[in-house]
Amino acid sequence: MPRRRPRGTSVRRMARARVDRLWEMACECEDPTLAKRYISIARRVAQKARIKIPRDIKRRICKKCNSVLIPGKNCRVRMRTNRSSHITVTCFTCGAIRRYYVRRQC
Ligand SMILES: [Zn+2]
Repeated sequence: MPRRRPRGTSVRRMARARVDRLWEMACECEDPTLAKRYISIARRVAQKARIKIPRDIKRRICKKCNSVLIPGKNCRVRMRTNRSSHITVTCFTCGAIRRYYVRRQC
């Protein structure tokens, strides 16, 4: 099998459009189980097409249970400075904790 992989192929563009659409659908749908399903499909599509899920979307998805994280509803967001400054996001659905380190700009 040839290992030629031209950049910007239509496959990737289509995959990106699908990821965007699935994300929209996951945000709009009321049923969390269905939203999880959309997210898992979107992640699989991205993985197959070898594209990255945009950071703003990625940070609103629980990596463990694939649910859409909405602060104040199903996740807790806290700023912590006990180590270097970071933000912790706790998912209420599965209890997973994610840390995002914040680099100080100077
Ligand atoms: Zn979770």
